[in-house]
Amino acid sequence: MEAAIKIDELVPEFKDEVLARIPDANFDLCLTCGTCTGGCAASELFDMDPRKLIRMLNLGMDEEVKKSKWMWVCSMCARCQSVCPMDIAIPKLVYNIRASVERSKRPKGILGSCDQHIKTGSAMGAKKDDFEFTVLDVAEEIRDEHPGFEDLQVSVDRVGANMVLNQNSREPVTEPEEMGPLWKILHTVGADWTYPSVMWAGENYCMFMADNEGWKYIMEEFTLHVDNTLKSPYVVNTE
Ligand code: SF4
Ligand code: SF4
Repeated sequence: MEAAIKIDELVPEFKDEVLARIPDANFDLCLTCGTCTGGCAASELFDMDPRKLIRMLNLGMDEEVKKSKWMWVCSMCARCQSVCPMDIAIPKLVYNIRASVERSKRPKGILGSCDQHIKTGSAMGAKKDDFEFTVLDVAEEIRDEHPGFEDLQVSVDRVGANMVLNQNSREPVTEPEEMGPLWKILHTVGADWTYPSVMWAGENYCMFMADNEGWKYIMEEFTLHVDNTLKSPYVVNTE
């Protein structure tokens, strides 16, 4: 049996550390009402939920908070904060907990996906030439075999398009035909769009992993390409 935690010996240092970065996080205002927990899809996983997290943080259970596996199953969807009567910044707290873990010790799957994205432009490691080949090949198949879509326009890096769309890399890599339905909708409404070849993948595991540098690098490369090369006024994030 584990020894009981002595509350009066705890000091909430981690809470102060996070508050220095997000002063309006409102952790001290928690009413323990449980509204956040009621709508959280990750509640009860690993015997944890967002209300419990805030209690533990406020009590100074810093080590338990930091080492909980639950931090990695929260989707950072922000539903908890949007229903919280005190507007407590739970997703930002989760992000900060993740960032407090040494990079090499973060979950291998997310870490690998983040590294692949930085290196190749997609979390699945698909290179831009392969992406372009697959996209154009599937588009040709649709033009040939799907009546009504003989003049379907699908492009990569078409300069001056009104919108740049990103694309989850799972589709071109594992189920390319799944890209077709969205293209057909865009075609039907007459949208003027293109895919980018640089950082074309819509997922961003570096963000989920709380890797600020990786997240920033991916977004900078993407936006520079959209602004300077493609010169498109809009980006549509399909994720
Ligand atoms: S909804 Fe807000 S106030 Fe209520 S328990 Fe959750 S964090 Fe605390
Ligand atoms: S952000 Fe995390 S804690 Fe909040 S509702 Fe979503 S999964 Fe739950």
